[in-house]
Amino acid sequence: QPAVDPKIFSRFGNGKIKNIICSLSGKGGVGKSSVATQLALSISAQGKRVGLLDLDLTGPSQVRMCGLEGAKILQSSQGWLPAYVDASQRLAVMSVAMLLKGKNDSVVWRGPKKNAMIKQFLGDVRWGELDYLIVDTPPGTSDEHISLMEYLRPFSPCAILVTTPQAVSLADNLRSLDFCSKVGLPVVGLIENMSGYVCPHCAECTNVWGKGGGQALAEREGIRFLGRIPIDPGLVRVLDDAKDEAVALAKGASAGEQGAVKKVE
Ligand code: ADP
Repeated sequence: QPAVDPKIFSRFGNGKIKNIICSLSGKGGVGKSSVATQLALSISAQGKRVGLLDLDLTGPSQVRMCGLEGAKILQSSQGWLPAYVDASQRLAVMSVAMLLKGKNDSVVWRGPKKNAMIKQFLGDVRWGELDYLIVDTPPGTSDEHISLMEYLRPFSPCAILVTTPQAVSLADNLRSLDFCSKVGLPVVGLIENMSGYVCPHCAECTNVWGKGGGQALAEREGIRFLGRIPIDPGLVRVLDDAKDEAVALAKGASAGEQGAVKKVE
């Protein structure tokens, strides 16, 4: 067992972050990030303190999905300050997108640099005490997942798998499941996303990509089936629209919190 990094221990140790849930999917575009956002929003709406860490370094989407476009990471004497979704400060978001100059800038990094960034996110972000940390990971099983597990294993993270009912997504999820068992990451359960489309006019449900494949996979692999989410055009609108007020609020709340804060370049 490698020694626990002292900086990471100072953020996560002694029960500071009670539950860590990683959102995983074998394939991109199946709704892993959307599920992470919705999970974070719904848990924080229940009065819990939640952090949402976007580790999809090359395709970060949490800043946009949480209406925080334009927010930057602020540095305080106690570390990097996350952006808050609203004034209640119950949902804190941290993403590499908050380090980039332009919203269309790309991250072109090899494994070691990604590893260093993840270590920094885990050791430097001042989340404070959290009931839940939701970690949005890249699709598949890559450098990011290996680094994440290396650093967070002592703090008992768990995973939620997201799939669409399509065979190709289901097959890729078997790989994610295999990864979880290899690295000892317990799987809380599986969500079948984009499961049917309910016509807003006639209410008929069309199973665009089939239905029930996620549930069958969960049953076969002995993991919990957490439910299915239909294709919902309303969800796309909510997730794609940046909310200007939320941005202003997040900036104001973070900047006002500390005396001397400066933008991280
Ligand atoms: P991933 O993280 O797996 O790459 P995303 O969460 O970014 O996938 O979702 C991909 C796109 O699909 C996004 O534009 C998102 O708004 C949309 N989307 C995800 N889930 C649903 C859903 N249930 N209904 C409609 N659109 C969805």
